[in-house]
Amino acid sequence: MAKIFCVANQKGGVGKTTTTVNLAASLAAQKQRVLVVDLDPQGNASMGSGIDKMGLKQSVYHVLIGMSDALAAIVKSESGGYDVLPANRELAGAEVELVELDLREERLKNALAPVLNDYDFILIDCPPALSLLTLNGLCAANGVIVPMQCEYFALEGLSDLVNTIKQVHANLNPDLTIIGLLRVMFDPRTTLQQQVSDQLVDHFGDKVFNTIIPRNVRLAEAPSYGMPGVTFDKASRGAQSYMQFGTEMIQRIKTM
Ligand code: ATP
Ligand code: MG
Repeated sequence: MAKIFCVANQKGGVGKTTTTVNLAASLAAQKQRVLVVDLDPQGNASMGSGIDKMGLKQSVYHVLIGMSDALAAIVKSESGGYDVLPANRELAGAEVELVELDLREERLKNALAPVLNDYDFILIDCPPALSLLTLNGLCAANGVIVPMQCEYFALEGLSDLVNTIKQVHANLNPDLTIIGLLRVMFDPRTTLQQQVSDQLVDHFGDKVFNTIIPRNVRLAEAPSYGMPGVTFDKASRGAQSYMQFGTEMIQRIKTM
């Protein structure tokens, strides 16, 4: 049965989508069956997986409001080697429509139930907000992966996310834990980044993943080709670090 992970951080542009699609491609390359759920109306994970988000008949929006089942909306990412439950701008409407519906935080969890046996990993790319969409992701998940840049305000932003996760854990999803913090866009030559990285490890211990993702331009170029960096340029340092992260995740779930 699939383990479900949310890639979440309410801060924008911290590398959530890059982490989702590259971890997915890394796991797929290591013979895991992977589904990416794009839970962001920006649809970046869909596009970065080579899916034409404007041409979708069904999307995660239809699944959340009960107009489609997950299986009917899932498409294949040829460039990534995994499946995608895609999103586009329409999903922005779900935020409003969900408020009226029963079990509004549990719509995604219930929708994924029929496909759990088809995958080893389900990765949910969350939008940059602690919104009802993100809550749906957190309710569906076994764990949260938090990508973060080692910058001055990074730790402060983290406390809101940690509080939300605690509340979801207490009220809606007793399974939920933070699997780990992933240091991304890392530049070891910057003293400040090294210091914040050390603080993170002091504070969160083994909740900080061993793998560090460096700043690497190939990872940033890949989405415009509709490809994860891991398949776009396998030899790049960015691709190799996400491959290593996939291996670390496979190890981690054995101990879960
Ligand atoms: P949003 O909050 O808008 O959804 P996000 O958290 O999903 O953003 P990304 O879209 O993954 O963040 O990354 C933000 C930008 O940084 C993108 O242009 C991406 O290509 C770039 N980027 C991400 N990770 C790296 C990296 N390791 N090296 C270089 N560029 C990166
Ligand atoms: Mg994103």
